[in-house]
Amino acid sequence: MQHAFERRDDTLWIEQLSLPALAERFGTPLYVYSQAHLTQQFQALTDALKPQPHLICYAVKANSSLGVLRLFADLGSGFDIVSGGELERVIGAGGDPEKVVFSGVGKSAAEIDFALKLGIHCFNVESEAELDRLSERAGRLQVRAPVSVRVNPNIDAQTHPYISTGLRHNKFGVAQVHALNLYRQIENSPWLEARGLDCHIGSLIMTPGPLIEALDNLLGLAESLAADGIELDHLDLGGGFGVPYHDEAPFELQQYADAIKDRLGNSNLKLVLEPGRFLVANGGVLLTRVEYLKPAPDADGRNFAVVDAAMNDLIRPTLYQAWHGIEPVVQHADIAPLAWDIVGPVCESGDFLGHDRQLALAPDDLLVVASAGAYGFVQSSNYNSRNRAAEVLVNGDQVSIIRQRETISDQLALEQLAPWQR
Ligand SMILES: *Cc1c(COP(=O)(O)O)cnc(C)c1O
Repeated sequence: MQHAFERRDDTLWIEQLSLPALAERFGTPLYVYSQAHLTQQFQALTDALKPQPHLICYAVKANSSLGVLRLFADLGSGFDIVSGGELERVIGAGGDPEKVVFSGVGKSAAEIDFALKLGIHCFNVESEAELDRLSERAGRLQVRAPVSVRVNPNIDAQTHPYISTGLRHNKFGVAQVHALNLYRQIENSPWLEARGLDCHIGSLIMTPGPLIEALDNLLGLAESLAADGIELDHLDLGGGFGVPYHDEAPFELQQYADAIKDRLGNSNLKLVLEPGRFLVANGGVLLTRVEYLKPAPDADGRNFAVVDAAMNDLIRPTLYQAWHGIEPVVQHADIAPLAWDIVGPVCESGDFLGHDRQLALAPDDLLVVASAGAYGFVQSSNYNSRNRAAEVLVNGDQVSIIRQRETISDQLALEQLAPWQR
């Protein structure tokens, strides 16, 4: 199933619950996740990789709700984190620190110490300076830090510039030609241990080609390292494989998995992957309600449907020009469709969820914004002092809140007046 929801007669359902019932019970805007869909994506990836030994490290930043993390922990997943906060979340959700890889260009000393004490699987190091800091922190704690160097294979992932990470001019990783020096630096430190080699070339990659090219580069480098006496345990190919948001052909998962198995089948290298979007994007929706219909006053005006979700809830359309499917939850047979711009209440012209959607709409209609499971709630903010949405997890005919709707007192809790203002 491509999406988490399906239409039965004229109404949308997620698993055994209708979306109008969920909106009635929890209010809108509301993030809804399907446990069945998330599980199915994890299983599809695991099945495609069989029998290759591997560790899937779910990229926490895609959706870091404790309920979602627990679900993946229960499925045996590891985690790819990019901050100490994400590590706290993984531990809070019952994740295993030994299955955690720590990515990111700016790890602080405190974050490194926290991860060293927990004994994570690997630090994916992105610079020589970070390697120095890691060695120094590990020395203080008298532990050895497991290390992988993130190389930047200079491959065009053919995706949006903001989510392309494997090109020379991106801030991520180190150029392949410098990697050997970094591994020598690792070998020379009593506090560092070379474990792996990693890359992550971008996000929303729709064909295996660029990912396989990156794998081949990594394998070449691993061979040079071996020739230099540096033996690794694993190759970490990052994440980045996409899912369809619109009418794109799905990512050829089996083709990618077969290419990996072909190349790693006879080696001793274990495989690590860091998928985020692939596991969660289409497992979640954002439910929103029409506040006002504001049809065009004349022939060259635009029709606006003002809804109760906004760019502060889902910023992908504004930030990446991303396209999300938008559909009425209950279809009207008796209303003529019009081309609507679906916009939120935030005071910005960039506040939109979709442009020019041919939809039959009435006031108070519920709309579903599809593919909102990845990079949705996690990028939400309080802009315009809007409370962040609630999140619920559906499992068959059960549903539970996994994050309460924020209140204005939650928002104001950290603020105070300066003494001279009181
Ligand atoms: C964001 C990120 C991922 C996950 O990317 P997806 O496109 O969501 O699969 C994996 N690894 C690293 C290092 C990342 O920064």
